[in-house]
Amino acid sequence: MHAPSVLVVGAGFGGIAAAIELRAHGIRGVTIVDAGPDIGGTWLHNTYPGAACDVPSHLYSFSFAQRTDWTRLCSPQPEILAYLHDVAKEYGVADLVETGTRVVAADRPRADGPWTVTADDGRTWTADVLILATGQLNRPVVPDIPGADTFGGHTFHSARWDHEHDLRGRRVAVVGTGASAVQFVPEIAPETGHLTVFQRSGNWFLPRRNRPFPRWWRAAVRHVPGLQRWRRRFITEYCESITLMIRHPSTWGRVGRLYSTLFMRMQLRDPEIRRKVWPDYTFGCKRILFSSHWLPALQRDDVTLVTERVTGIVPEGVRTADGRTHEVDTIIWGTGFAATDFMFPMEITGPGGRSLQDTWADGAHAYLGMTVPGFPSMFVLYGPNTNTSGGSIIRYLEHQVRYVREALQEAQRRGARGVEVREDVERAYDAEVQSRFPGTAWTRCDSWYRDETGRIVTNWPGYMREYDDRTRRVEPSEYEFHS
Ligand code: NAP
Repeated sequence: MHAPSVLVVGAGFGGIAAAIELRAHGIRGVTIVDAGPDIGGTWLHNTYPGAACDVPSHLYSFSFAQRTDWTRLCSPQPEILAYLHDVAKEYGVADLVETGTRVVAADRPRADGPWTVTADDGRTWTADVLILATGQLNRPVVPDIPGADTFGGHTFHSARWDHEHDLRGRRVAVVGTGASAVQFVPEIAPETGHLTVFQRSGNWFLPRRNRPFPRWWRAAVRHVPGLQRWRRRFITEYCESITLMIRHPSTWGRVGRLYSTLFMRMQLRDPEIRRKVWPDYTFGCKRILFSSHWLPALQRDDVTLVTERVTGIVPEGVRTADGRTHEVDTIIWGTGFAATDFMFPMEITGPGGRSLQDTWADGAHAYLGMTVPGFPSMFVLYGPNTNTSGGSIIRYLEHQVRYVREALQEAQRRGARGVEVREDVERAYDAEVQSRFPGTAWTRCDSWYRDETGRIVTNWPGYMREYDDRTRRVEPSEYEFHS
């Protein structure tokens, strides 16, 4: 049986990793389509001031394409995007990408037949295998706030930063205080005339200055044998310790909370601000944020922190629950992404007209976050329950693409045209994953990890190394092979 043809949707880290892995193992008929104008995914679209990785680059990079010349612990967006471009070129997959292609539907009427994939301009592709590498954080959300369309000034989302819009001297509102806002607020605060930050929940912080590496350190990483490897391992263990704290909120979580408390108390001189920003939920329930710049920025004279609920937008600015109107010229939404919606609004239909949207109506689920019964030869990268609160998603992606490649090779060996996870296997796996959340910090507040039913659909419940182990090899008995 010849190698299958593969269509990959998404040209971010996941899509590029998939193409590299498949082509390196003889599966050469790979096409990548992406709605954006270039490769990069999240790192193409998120260009806000201060955008940087919040996982150290020695870990937030492919194991097979390590760099010793990162300029900072957590590289800025342009450096990460340039890295992905370089890797794609180096491994000969950059030319496989068809940009400006927004997939709206994928249909596979027969288990042993191909997928037909349709773009919004009517173009279609046929492929034996469909890999969805669109990630969890690709659709910016602007909350549905009454009067939003009446605003007289300018407005945009942080993930679609309007670089043409000059913030200098303007009265600016930022709604949202998550990982994105925490990076761009300290950058824009010195520029704006006045900055008003609207916070719904406070966050737990740990220190990070993210200064450029000194020259001696960069030279050491380049020249001292083993230092780069040691550093990667050290960062891995550090990240696993974050997961340990989240998994055990009453013991290790208290250690993390104490560290965070000491740091925040040291940074928060103003008792009023301290009262306002202090989180009222368990350490680690929402993403723990690393910044030594955020709390000082909130204490600037030209920054106001508002914790009253945003109730409406009026032509002059933002209305809050206390009846006040905060007059501003610009509103920046730092309100995150539709993370729990996964592949939608794409319409994905398997044999017998089975719709993925219906299958996931009560919350997304997939075996190992990758394969869904009823959808043969469809693989999801960075799918349900594979987000990490403490680790590097690049590492998860590498394991996923290796697993997908092995599954395809197994199908090829058997002369099968389709490979599909068994329903009972996926159901048992899902039950096991969900059974690991109770008692952890993740369940102790609302966050983007949970869907509207409260089910945690984005996060992996364990350590990076456990996911590595679970995906190390494909167990053929867990699959049906369609000939
Ligand atoms: P986010 O963490 O979902 O934060 C959204 C913020 O908007 C939260 O503070 C949320 O408040 C607030 N919000 C939402 N709706 C609101 C409303 N109606 N009124 C007032 N506030 C509202 O989004 P994000 O900051 O873009 O980050 C998303 C994820 O992307 C991160 O957790 C991280 O995984 C990733 N990320 C990574 C990096 C990096 O690696 N450097 C950088 C940025 C983002 P609540 O907390 O109360 O919901």
